[in-house]
Amino acid sequence: MSGRAKALIDLGALRNNCDVVRRLVGNDCQILAMIKADAYGHGLLKVADALSEVDALGVANLDEALLLRQRNIKTPVIVMSGFLSQEELSLFPENNLAAVVHHDAQLALLEKVSLQTPLAVWLKIDTGMHRLGFSPDNVNTVVKRLKRCASVQADFGLMTHLADADNVDRQFTQAQLSEFFEVTQSLSQLKSIANSAGILAYRESFQDMVRPGIMLYGVSPFSDRVGLDDHLQPVMHLTSQVIATKDLKQGDKVGYGCTWESPEDMRIAVVGIGYGDGYPRHAKNGTPVLINGVRCPLVGRVSMDMITVDLRHQPDVSVGDEVVLWGRGLPVETIAAAADTIAYELLCQLTRRIAFVYV
Ligand SMILES: *Cc1c(COP(=O)(O)O)cnc(C)c1O
Repeated sequence: MSGRAKALIDLGALRNNCDVVRRLVGNDCQILAMIKADAYGHGLLKVADALSEVDALGVANLDEALLLRQRNIKTPVIVMSGFLSQEELSLFPENNLAAVVHHDAQLALLEKVSLQTPLAVWLKIDTGMHRLGFSPDNVNTVVKRLKRCASVQADFGLMTHLADADNVDRQFTQAQLSEFFEVTQSLSQLKSIANSAGILAYRESFQDMVRPGIMLYGVSPFSDRVGLDDHLQPVMHLTSQVIATKDLKQGDKVGYGCTWESPEDMRIAVVGIGYGDGYPRHAKNGTPVLINGVRCPLVGRVSMDMITVDLRHQPDVSVGDEVVLWGRGLPVETIAAAADTIAYELLCQLTRRIAFVYV
């Protein structure tokens, strides 16, 4: 595997992070582990297997859920977008899947069909994200209709999603929480609000079920923190190798567009990873990589297959040496900040060229 980038996935770290959630929320609260988008790029099935102890798994769409069932994963699964047609709806009870119901069109379908096995449902209320969910004004009516619906299990839950819980300004989240509590207080249904930021910053958002995503993978949802600050361990450790070193003369230019110029005679390393692997092309000059334990800054543009790295602080480098792009010792949050994005995106966008190794 020469010069090929490798993602080491530490399933022990994943379980540790799940334990962190469990300790925070206590034993009476259910954990719905969010594993949409291929488990945030970590591998849907391996992660689902490793998390078999959680109360339920959350995916974005029916295809992700069916993949889990085809691979014989028995854990309860909740599909965040629910169903879009009668054909899709019929697959839910058949595959023992629960659906988030967030739209009138879904409610109309539920009232039209007669399912042999009633569907498990989470009713989504829009308290301010303005993406999916029923308006708080309609909740009473929708709840009444669901209760009358023979194709829906009587013990459906109520949920909402926080839009701004990672913000130090707590005003918007407090308003969402108040709105949710106001419209649901008289209802005896199970309730669910919290994403990772809710779990870490709003105790009152725990309710009956929390929905951690990014924190399970060891990453902080807050821009001013890293996972380790909350005892979370990075699950993904992304590495590659030095494929060449090069001695530059002062004034030599490096990479496409000749955007970087050597300020003095110096050595650089060429590392076998690029945007074709999912390393962010917008990573700026100065973005760190770890070579033999030392942080070395990126210089020049990220290419499809390669990046170039300043070795002035690390003279001790040979071809074949391992390079850490993110993971233990180099938080993905740091790289995300240097590429003007969020760690969620970096984790999700690794390509099939990366070799995944599970430990
Ligand atoms: C993705 C998602 C989550 C998890 O969000 P994180 O910020 O990754 O913890 C929770 N709830 C819903 C509805 C989601 O789509």
